[in-house]
Amino acid sequence: MTKLFNDPARFAEEALAGFCDANANLVRQVPGGAIRRHRSAAPKVAVLAGGGSGHYPAFAGFIGPGLVDGAVVGNIFTSPSAQQAYAVAKAADQGAGVVFAYGNYAGDVMNFGLATERLAAEAVAVDNVVVTDDIASAAPGESAKRRGIAGDFTVFKVMGAAAEAGASLAEVVRLGRKANSSTRTIGSAFHGCTFPGADAALFTLGEMQMGLGLGIHGEPGLLDMALPTADELGRELVARILAETPSGSGQRIAVVLNGLGSTKYEELFVLWGTVAPLLRGAGYELVMPEVGELVTSLDMAAVSLTVTWLDDELEPLWCAPAESPAYKRGNVASPAGQDDWIEAGGTVPGGARYSAGDDSKAYARRCVAALEAAARAVHDAEAMLGDLDAIAGDGDHGRGMVRGIDAAVAAAVGTLGLGAGAGTVLAEAGDAWADKAGGTSGVLWGAGLRSLGETLGDSTAPTPGRLLEAVNAFAARIQGLGKAEPGDKTMVDALVPLTAAFGRHLAEGVDVAAAWTAAAVEATAAAAATAGLRPRLGRARPLAEKSIGTPDPGATSLAMVFTVMGPHLANINQLAAAKQ
Ligand code: ADP
Ligand code: MG
Repeated sequence: MTKLFNDPARFAEEALAGFCDANANLVRQVPGGAIRRHRSAAPKVAVLAGGGSGHYPAFAGFIGPGLVDGAVVGNIFTSPSAQQAYAVAKAADQGAGVVFAYGNYAGDVMNFGLATERLAAEAVAVDNVVVTDDIASAAPGESAKRRGIAGDFTVFKVMGAAAEAGASLAEVVRLGRKANSSTRTIGSAFHGCTFPGADAALFTLGEMQMGLGLGIHGEPGLLDMALPTADELGRELVARILAETPSGSGQRIAVVLNGLGSTKYEELFVLWGTVAPLLRGAGYELVMPEVGELVTSLDMAAVSLTVTWLDDELEPLWCAPAESPAYKRGNVASPAGQDDWIEAGGTVPGGARYSAGDDSKAYARRCVAALEAAARAVHDAEAMLGDLDAIAGDGDHGRGMVRGIDAAVAAAVGTLGLGAGAGTVLAEAGDAWADKAGGTSGVLWGAGLRSLGETLGDSTAPTPGRLLEAVNAFAARIQGLGKAEPGDKTMVDALVPLTAAFGRHLAEGVDVAAAWTAAAVEATAAAAATAGLRPRLGRARPLAEKSIGTPDPGATSLAMVFTVMGPHLANINQLAAAKQ
């Protein structure tokens, strides 16, 4: 059980603040996570690890010379938002490039991918290394689908050492990917973890049971079996890892025997007593092995074994010195930039003023009114949307939409106050939505709104053609990112009829406001018709049968929001009239 907490919802936030205070000599907190306290003497590539909380020392515990430059810190077992990743990157970037390194989970891939696009658009050199070491999570032929677990550590260690030695961004990325493709992990769980405030573990096993093939987010093992002795478990883990020896690999290996939260170090050492001789017996030289907690899962009782096959390039990087709050190796030369305190990070353009055309500013006020109307509708529908999502999803769609739209309104109002045009107001509203909503729909809504805004721009009020283009850009972004097709039972099932109808009515010469209204009616009908569909994507997929007869929550809320925004966004003729 997790016993010590205040407000469970603030557990991750309070833990990060405490961690940064206790390790203030090495790290400093910035919006979105934490970065190194001291800037290196010469500009170097910034290696940024990231993911949800609940895995300490992963990931913030690895911030320091020889390891990572910063960590993007999400809520417990939840991907950080793209905005968080962007903000940490802006704080850590020294002009030599940024690389995000994280385990292979859909939310992380999407959010770090979005932050990457945004940084690249600002001409920051940026790339990603995705860790896929968990051999239990997909077959060898599908290794790109594998999850990232304790192998995160060996990959980050290699990347951190390479960046510290002055390697270029391309080189750090190449070495990180090489380390990943040489790394294999398998674990085994004895008891699930408990969320702060929850009164039961995420899964339980009988006293004499074990789950082989664990995940690090409270997922149970893939194969339940009788609890073995330490000796038997050691044999099982080593056999499974060696069965996946990379072809052409040598005889020198980095080994990590990892505890996941409440397996004692002594238990790990007993297990090591089997693992090490077996590996040596197989002809391997064990190079600087690690036994201890490196990637945990709250208080889960579990162990995992990681092997990284080394070569002349990887071995010196694995062995290089490092100094971080949770992990030290050798002596790191005192960084010459010791006294160079990094200015407070963050990307809020403090007091920035925007330049925008008067017509666009007038339309920006419409956009704010549209978002406010949407917020009222979403608040009223919160419980209903939650109920729809609880049938086969996780019940959080109403809450997520409320958090997203409230943040979007606040950002839009603030940005409007700084003199921005409609494009920037909507783009900032989108970023805030994605940052605060959580969940798949929040990422998609946020990115869609940003595209809508970018298409409208800040110079003039939209023409009907430009408004159609912007709504199409909204839809294209959501489809491009979420990869859902019509019929998958997602918000796309309301979105595609909406854009098609809006375009068709405009082409027929219908007035913009009437075209929007008619399109919203079609979207509402399409959302209702999703009741007959079976979900093929998202959290509802595993419970597809239960979902039949209930409309898709994301499609329902999308039709609702577009319906109430219409009178504000589509009355552009009136806008021109008001100006005259
Ligand atoms: P989560 O599923 O992460 O809990 P929400 O509950 O807020 O997020 O949103 C669920 C909705 O998100 C679904 O009803 C569906 O409309 C939408 N959704 C899920 N995955 C996708 C996807 N890949 N593309 C488009 N929409 C999606
Ligand atoms: Mg949900």
